[in-house]
Amino acid sequence: MTAITRLPQDDNSNGWSAILPERRPRPALTGHKDADWVVVGAGYAGLAAARRLADNRPQDTILLIEAHAAGENASGRNSGFGIDLPHNVGSAHDELEGSRRFMRLARTALDYLGKQVHDHRIDCDWSKAGKYHAAVSPEGVKTIVEPFARELEALKEPLTWIEGAQLAARLGTPHFTAAVYTPGCILMNPAALTRGLADSLPANVTLHERSPVIDADLGGDMVRLTTPEGTIRAAKLILAVNGYAPAFGFFSGRLLPFAAHASLTRRLDDEEHARLGNIADWGLTPANAFAGITMRFTHDRRILIRQNIHYCPSMRQSDERRRQIAQDHLRLFRQRFPSLPHVTMEHTWTGFVCLTRNGAPGFGKLAPNIWSTVGCNAVGVTKATIAGLLAADLACGHDNPLIADMEALGKPSTLPPRPFLDIGVEARMAWELWQARAER
Ligand SMILES: Cc1cc2nc3c(=O)[nH]c(=O)nc-3n(C[C@H](O)[C@H](O)[C@H](O)COP(=O)(O)OP(=O)(O)OC[C@H]3O[C@@H](n4cnc5c(N)ncnc54)[C@H](O)[C@@H]3O)c2cc1C
Repeated sequence: MTAITRLPQDDNSNGWSAILPERRPRPALTGHKDADWVVVGAGYAGLAAARRLADNRPQDTILLIEAHAAGENASGRNSGFGIDLPHNVGSAHDELEGSRRFMRLARTALDYLGKQVHDHRIDCDWSKAGKYHAAVSPEGVKTIVEPFARELEALKEPLTWIEGAQLAARLGTPHFTAAVYTPGCILMNPAALTRGLADSLPANVTLHERSPVIDADLGGDMVRLTTPEGTIRAAKLILAVNGYAPAFGFFSGRLLPFAAHASLTRRLDDEEHARLGNIADWGLTPANAFAGITMRFTHDRRILIRQNIHYCPSMRQSDERRRQIAQDHLRLFRQRFPSLPHVTMEHTWTGFVCLTRNGAPGFGKLAPNIWSTVGCNAVGVTKATIAGLLAADLACGHDNPLIADMEALGKPSTLPPRPFLDIGVEARMAWELWQARAER
């Protein structure tokens, strides 16, 4: 038995779920259950894996086990971009091929999520709004946005170049110099989406929330798990716990946990909306993902600021640090929207992104009866979803050509040992922030 000593903690800071009606979680696991399959972790990856297992094996019993409420970890706390394009394309033949592979995977995930939203009438403000990849400084335009546009042209992807007054009119702020608009990105309230996915699972999936796995015996023919009030014996396991995989004995020294933060303003009233030119909802990713600021104008007229991402091996964030970040977000919002001096921030939250050094996910078979979907970096709406679907297909022996695309993304590379790792990551982050300081 392995004691799972690192468990996720819900700090109840998630703004996306705070603006939704209250939801009653599914009952915690009590007593003993036998099952054909157990999926641990109910973020995008686990939700997709459980549903696909149920579709592939309608006669099998599937347990989906979540430490807190489904989707209340990274999946319901993100910026709500369903991203269909890589952030960096590159221009070499291999890089273009890698981008095409990523796009096939991401677009399959978006089609799948869109179908669930449609079929189950999931009310999550699903919007085919596209996104702007924008730079604040002329330097950022020249060094990042222009090459990105050329690379997308090489991929024959549709795009629109927008700058100056035209961009300001679309966004309601003159803060950005230029942007590449691409139409394939989906925007949504991510907590509403994960809730909707959790509440529409097929009949042969039983979801238990508030059931952290605290002990695991993964060495034998059967998987045995313990939660505070129950036990499970299952033939097969899909591990969808993202940055918590090392606690289960996998991917130790290969995953990089980062804390990321986002804030949402209150809703703008009609008069404030008119001051911005009655703009439609939009999403904007920054030229530099670490130094820049991801922003949205949401369907319900709030402004989202996603900024401050830092290396956080403890996967814990203090309330005090979050308060400081909230103030910083308010300042950044005021810089961008001086015409809205009375609009306040309503929510600021922390979520944990799990990065890998080489961007490769921890996807695939780990043991004869265990598969994993972890480490999907900061594009998990699509990447974790497709990882979950394909892990289920792989585990069921289904021949899906996209499995080869997923496997071609590689395996997470080994990291240097701590404290060298910590020093190296901090130095790299400081360099990124300094180098792209004009993008803040
Ligand atoms: C602020 C922020 C902004 C982001 N913006 C975007 C964006 O706009 N677009 C995008 O694509 N991605 C974005 N991301 C990244 C994205 O959210 C993640 O890549 C994605 O949610 C990963 O999904 P997952 O299912 O792999 O992991 P998670 O959502 O982390 O799910 C793993 C689950 O496992 C559970 N778990 C862990 N240990 C145990 C245990 N012992 N027992 C039971 N359950 C356990 C956790 O509670 C959790 O619910 C963002 C992330 C953050 C934090």
